[in-house]
Amino acid sequence: MKIIHTPSPNFNARPSDISLTNRAAPPCNPTDVLPAKAGIQSNFQIDPRLRGEDNKGQINEKSASHGEIDAIIIHYTDMESAEAALAWLTNPVSKVSAHYLIDEDGRIYQIVNEEHRAWHAGESYWQGRTNLNNCSIGIELANTGHSHGYKPFPEAQIHSLIELCREIKERWSIPSNRILGHSDIAPGRKQDPGHLFPWERLAREGLGLWPGEDDELLVNYPPSVIPESPKGASGTQEKTCNVTNASWVPASAGMTPILLSAIGYDITSSQHALLAFQRHFQPHKVDGVADQETYALLKKII
Ligand SMILES: [Zn+2]
Repeated sequence: MKIIHTPSPNFNARPSDISLTNRAAPPCNPTDVLPAKAGIQSNFQIDPRLRGEDNKGQINEKSASHGEIDAIIIHYTDMESAEAALAWLTNPVSKVSAHYLIDEDGRIYQIVNEEHRAWHAGESYWQGRTNLNNCSIGIELANTGHSHGYKPFPEAQIHSLIELCREIKERWSIPSNRILGHSDIAPGRKQDPGHLFPWERLAREGLGLWPGEDDELLVNYPPSVIPESPKGASGTQEKTCNVTNASWVPASAGMTPILLSAIGYDITSSQHALLAFQRHFQPHKVDGVADQETYALLKKII
């Protein structure tokens, strides 16, 4: 896997009590800076919309998490081109960075050494931990995002991402359930990598969570609240009913934040947490309204 080293000054040390047991990650050598990219950087105009985004890399140390590097956070750049994003991520003014940027054509740029703490996540939370910059590897995918015309991620880009994630996962022994999107860990602030990101495909490659497709999804769901069965699947409803519709519906609606929290989401705003969950696990229905499928998916993911 070819990696282009384009160092950024936007990093600092991880908290000292994070044990870096693996030093095999490729170093990001400042002498490898590409002259062409450096030139682009000097001409780049700062987009005012992006001022302040993810610029909390050096603050909030009181909430620093403790432990190994144990998460991969996937982003989109939300900028017009990979070149512009690379310039921004390596510009000291921006105070943002990531460990890697993957261009739409699959080229991988390493911007910050994995041992260092890149500034990609900002204020964040997952499974009781805050400030995920401390313990994560951040990967940016070049994509025009919701600001400039959100579009599907090209095959070459996803292919490179899968290869890179496999290496990082193995290098740091990262659990599959800690390969997440930015919106998962900052649901009130972020929506990247968005509903077009192929989480299901990554899961098929052993990267990240995805619910299986089997009848267990319907267990404990009464027939009256299960949507129209797909053709040939009507038999699945008969084994599910043991509570009444009246008691089940309010209980399930009230359960939503509890289930979201159990998965790992910050439920300070349960509405934002639900939207983040849908972006990841129910991408055809990102509307903040939980339906039967949402409840089933929630239970399946836990
Ligand atoms: Zn992001």
